[in-house]
Amino acid sequence: MSPSAGDRVLVTRRIASSVVAKLDAYFDLDVHDSEEPLRRDELLDRVAGAAGVLSMVSDRIDDAFLRAGDKDLRVLANYAVGFDNIDVAAASRHRVVIANTPNVLSQATAELTLSLMLALVRRVPEGDRILRSATPWIWSPTWMIGRGLAGGTLGIVGLGRIGKEVARLAIAFGMDVIYANRSGAVADAPYRSVTLEELLATADVVSLHCPLNDETRHLIGADELARMKPDAVIVNTARGPVIDEAALVVAVRDRVIAGAALDVFEREPEVHSGLLELDSVVLTPHMGSGTAETREAMGELCLDALKAVIIDERCPRNALNPEAMRAP
Ligand code: NAP
Repeated sequence: MSPSAGDRVLVTRRIASSVVAKLDAYFDLDVHDSEEPLRRDELLDRVAGAAGVLSMVSDRIDDAFLRAGDKDLRVLANYAVGFDNIDVAAASRHRVVIANTPNVLSQATAELTLSLMLALVRRVPEGDRILRSATPWIWSPTWMIGRGLAGGTLGIVGLGRIGKEVARLAIAFGMDVIYANRSGAVADAPYRSVTLEELLATADVVSLHCPLNDETRHLIGADELARMKPDAVIVNTARGPVIDEAALVVAVRDRVIAGAALDVFEREPEVHSGLLELDSVVLTPHMGSGTAETREAMGELCLDALKAVIIDERCPRNALNPEAMRAP
């Protein structure tokens, strides 16, 4: 079927101009060209009459949003692989197909995870802060001592697409890998599958890569942190609420564990003030997928999904709820 100029698509945030140009060739585009999210009332206003939406993790896609989209809204392409911001069951009831952006961001997110691990155990941000604060220093055999990754055990919670990439990179750094998944051993994964309890008690670095859902919210709380070794660290590039942030502050402050590195936060963009005070905590502002080529590839996947439903009237390959596809 050929493109129809009347098919309006709302893009809820500024994205790469190259992707906008490609979208523009197919749709009547309504781009919120800003680094700031749309206010909730604006979001609901602007979805009215749109056939498709390219949405961000910070947009809450719930029943009220879907009602505002009404019968015109047929597809929502979420510019992320995680979809904890979306009520997928409600979307299915409203016959709105939801698509996400798997695989294309796994490598970039895994690289950021390894960057955070190294930054934490080798104290890179701490060293940077010392120099920027003009603190007097001189090389010394006993100063700024960290730990290496080689010979340590990495415990991956959620050996999926990103977890597997993290494992592959960690092996290159000389680590042993163990993992805990909800559904047990992963076929063809050459690493030891363990329970979460065993992982926490064994790993030198615990790295979280499970999705955020009702089961994983606060999966890591005070009890789980207490099970970790006192010289172990935890890294979270999954979603903030998987860790109980207040419990984490206490655990690092009281040296229950040796440190934490976080790319995601419980109440983004807010960061728990206790985390900001701790030297053995490394923080980045949710930039796991943040390479130019990855963000472009995510945009391409969103374009594919929007085109599939609105123009070709077929189910996109990354549909999370194919049952929502309406008959042509
Ligand atoms: P994925 O391929 O679906 O992998 C998730 C893995 O977690 C699966 O292997 C799943 O296996 C496992 N899992 C589910 N529930 C679990 C539980 N309760 N305990 C332990 N394991 C569990 O997803 P992905 O593409 O790797 O992405 C993972 C997450 O990374 C996304 O959901 C997103 O939130 C986050 N992410 C963050 C960034 C960033 O910028 N920081 C970028 C991309 C993605 P079973 O269900 O078989 O257990």
